[in-house]
Amino acid sequence: MYHSIAAMPKGTVMRSLHVPPKRFSLQMKLLKLLGYQGLSMGDLQPYLEGKKNGKVVGLTFDDGYKNNITNALPILKKYGFSATCYVVSQNIDGINHWDINKGIPKNPTMNKKEIQSWIGAGMEIGSHTQNHVFLTKINKNEAINEINNSKADLEKMFGVDVNHFCYPYGDLNDDIVSVTKNARYHTATTVNRGKFRTNDNLFTLHRIPVTHYTLPHLFLLKVLGNYEEKYR
Ligand SMILES: [Zn+2]
Repeated sequence: MYHSIAAMPKGTVMRSLHVPPKRFSLQMKLLKLLGYQGLSMGDLQPYLEGKKNGKVVGLTFDDGYKNNITNALPILKKYGFSATCYVVSQNIDGINHWDINKGIPKNPTMNKKEIQSWIGAGMEIGSHTQNHVFLTKINKNEAINEINNSKADLEKMFGVDVNHFCYPYGDLNDDIVSVTKNARYHTATTVNRGKFRTNDNLFTLHRIPVTHYTLPHLFLLKVLGNYEEKYR
């Protein structure tokens, strides 16, 4: 689970959300050297379903930041990896407005053209709702609209299938999970920590957070070891 790929100065509020490009590059290099393939959720799905076996890691980016295309895409291409970027469908060419009152710096999101080049480069987009809402804190009809319409918005705008969803803030309950299934997504990711286990629910997938502070040894413990298990 990545968000922003950028070097941010000390003192930045929630600096953890930004992984410096050099660190990201080394992480992808380590995966490659260890024989892992980095995959988008669409490419990962057959492995989650037990239809394929292999050394694979899902790569996801939340929120649709512009720096994903400028800083992450060249590195993903270099290693022949694919990845999924979860886009907020009504916040294309915008900023992270949901973060601003917490003092988190403004971070621009990709515009339409940039998302088209992300897709053109073999990458995938998923949905992160229309407005980056807390899905359990709005009424059910609003939540249904956020989940369904974001898929429709993105499919219409980019002419691709949008099969993968990510709950903003990891905010979900059983109702929200059913709505997401009914919206015909194939998978949905949370912010719950941990590696995938056989028979995990594809609509409450755990992820491994990678932050500014994930130094190489910690990255390896997270990916190869049981480091994340204590948070499950
Ligand atoms: Zn988000």
